[in-house]
Amino acid sequence: MKALVYHSPGQKSWEERPKPTIEHHTDAIVKILKTAIDINDLHLINDSVPVISEGRTIGHEGVGIIEAVGSEVKNFKTNDSVLISSVTSCGKCENCKKQMYSHCEKGGWLLGNVIDGTQAEYVRIPFADNSLYHIPEDADPEAFVMLSNVVPTAYECGVLCGKIGVGDSVAIIGAGPIGMAALLTAQMYSPAQIIMIDFDDNRLREALELGANHVVNISHEYAVKSVLDLTKGKGVQTVIEAAGMPTTFSLAGEIVAVGGHIANIGIHGKGVDLHLEHLFSKNITLTTHIVDTSSIPVLIKSVVANKLDPTKLISHLFNLNQIMEAYKVLENAKHEKVLKIILTV
Ligand SMILES: [Zn+2]
Repeated sequence: MKALVYHSPGQKSWEERPKPTIEHHTDAIVKILKTAIDINDLHLINDSVPVISEGRTIGHEGVGIIEAVGSEVKNFKTNDSVLISSVTSCGKCENCKKQMYSHCEKGGWLLGNVIDGTQAEYVRIPFADNSLYHIPEDADPEAFVMLSNVVPTAYECGVLCGKIGVGDSVAIIGAGPIGMAALLTAQMYSPAQIIMIDFDDNRLREALELGANHVVNISHEYAVKSVLDLTKGKGVQTVIEAAGMPTTFSLAGEIVAVGGHIANIGIHGKGVDLHLEHLFSKNITLTTHIVDTSSIPVLIKSVVANKLDPTKLISHLFNLNQIMEAYKVLENAKHEKVLKIILTV
């Protein structure tokens, strides 16, 4: 079979690899129908310090058809249509029992990281019973591939942690795929006002199309003043930080209202300042969360019921065998106006 394989920092190739086989009784082999490229895949490949092994197949998102199952897999059988969670989990350990699948003692982010991933014609999924989800056979697979990682991340770490409610004011910092997915899923809770903050006018224009009420471009606006002006000086009930920079984290602390919530999603590579000298008396909550994908079952129901359309986040479609070209497009994300790239086998 063909797969996108990491070799050394910055070096990858689309090459022939052995088709995966059942290694444990709880495994399933999935024939990929749709997969996606995540910005984290690009970081893994281009990081100057190797974080993954030579020969690793990349990718942690996908939908497909079950090709084979191990003898202990109970919930799935050959030919079932499935959604692959980006988080692999045993379903039995202490953390799994709390639905904290990202911290599974035997799992977590394995696909395309610790074991071979989904940017390939076939993938082996460990702990299949807890790491795969049934999807309707007649459903649009492009909608469901967005539920492997992007939409649950925004929903769990942003919308749920940020406790968004009817009539609330919300600011989302960062209009990348995760920020935009937060914009889509936040609207399921009918907040009165969603303010999207980014530095890219193209993305902000798109945010307005996806339902933002106001946009603020931090490259030429003083965002604190703009948000306070839009909220009668009060700030917003919920700030979703989906940018992961020291400046954007500080901004979150400056625009949160009294009694509000800061829901961090951003991956912070550096330390940040938490200004407790201003925040200690504001009754706020701050949450950190990494996606567990425990929300996938409810998100599948919302997509099937046409209450949520994650295909709005797809900007580019390629065939899987064009994946090298697709990576080049992602490397020029701003110029190419990339939100999410989907690959079809
Ligand atoms: Zn577990």
